[in-house]
Amino acid sequence: MSAGFGKSFSGLQGIKSIEDFDLKDQKVFIRLDLNVPMKGEPGNLEITDDTRIRAAIPTLKYAMEKGAKLVLASHLGRPETPEDRPKYTLEPVAARLGELLGCEVILIEEPTSDAPKALLPVLKPKQILLLENVRFEKGETKNASELANVIASYTDIYINDAFGASHRAHSTIDALPRLIAKRGCGFLIKKEIENLGMLMDGPKKPFLTVMGGAKVSDKIKVIESMMEKIDTFLVGGAMAYTFLAAQGLGVGKSRVEKDKLSFARDLIKRIESRGKKILLPIDHIIADDFLAPTKIETVDTPSIPEDRLGLDIGPKTRELYRKEIERAKTVFWNGPMGVFERPEFAKGSFGIAEALATLAQNGGVSVVGGGDSAAAAEASGFADKMTHISTGGGASLEYLEGAKLPGLEALRIVRESVAPTF
Ligand code: ADP
Ligand code: MG
Repeated sequence: MSAGFGKSFSGLQGIKSIEDFDLKDQKVFIRLDLNVPMKGEPGNLEITDDTRIRAAIPTLKYAMEKGAKLVLASHLGRPETPEDRPKYTLEPVAARLGELLGCEVILIEEPTSDAPKALLPVLKPKQILLLENVRFEKGETKNASELANVIASYTDIYINDAFGASHRAHSTIDALPRLIAKRGCGFLIKKEIENLGMLMDGPKKPFLTVMGGAKVSDKIKVIESMMEKIDTFLVGGAMAYTFLAAQGLGVGKSRVEKDKLSFARDLIKRIESRGKKILLPIDHIIADDFLAPTKIETVDTPSIPEDRLGLDIGPKTRELYRKEIERAKTVFWNGPMGVFERPEFAKGSFGIAEALATLAQNGGVSVVGGGDSAAAAEASGFADKMTHISTGGGASLEYLEGAKLPGLEALRIVRESVAPTF
């Protein structure tokens, strides 16, 4: 089926899936997003959250079962100089992957050396290759064709399953797949696009969004692009203080984006004039300082003293938001309700996570987007009960903004168009 004359492709249209190829004995290059957080010093690095590695497993298991010869690649962090290498090595990732897959993961120090070409033909079952951090190669972030050419020379089939990196036009995301006829996506990308696409195309109503996080300005585009579809807006996090301040309410020394006050005021008007609902926090957990908070108290809106700042939504707001979520059929959550990294200010975000888990268990749909929101959902213990937690961070938000992701566009196989007859 064609997408229709004059219409651009969207979603997964024109994109093949890993299941469309015969993988037996083929050299299959899989680009993953194994950019996981780590702690510790070089030589003794420890992965603190392996969600992204676990999210890659279904595609890898499938490819291994089908007898593919695998070369995997990922970036990690933002290495700038060769001195950064020990800090950003994929060694801990290789070890964790090996544990999860029950196989030997051979780390290739130099992706542009002859090593992959030499090793691929003699690779045994239960052995896979992992290229060292692709950002160690200068060409990666420059979308260089040289790097793409080298990898293409030993690749039969290209699979992108790096959803979290697909908003970047980098060499292993964009230039490389364009060189390979047999290209497609893995199961993670498929799941991400199906779930995020459902929010954009046909969410079951009522559709509610929980917005929070650090800044209004980070979320303006998503709000604008989804505005018409959403019935109810719940606001929390630092963002809420810009909305409260926009209504002339005192917010103490809470974080306010002064240049977004008129946007916030206008948004409230637009939402209400369409007969939709926007709720702001009715109480807050406040403290005297962001970095070293003491004097932690709960107060109602608008009684935040001048020398205090709001760091989480309060218990009344939690209960109010829980009830609203209970009434919805679809919920999209982006942005923590407070400084959830500290247990004193995590209850608001964990309360939302619990409400989203309950909703999904009762037949509703709950989707979480944004890196910190996903981390909050994981930390809450309710992550596995939600419909979908996007591993995408920035990529999921850009997708919901309606932007085209280079990593998806490079996979599309556009059939020759037939001239319309009049
Ligand atoms: P996401 O990554 O999910 O899109 P953001 O990056 O927008 O989310 O926001 C996450 C950050 O917002 C967290 O680090 C959290 O500590 C911070 N935050 C949430 N509420 C507040 C608040 N009331 N004051 C200051 N920072 C906040
Ligand atoms: Mg963030």
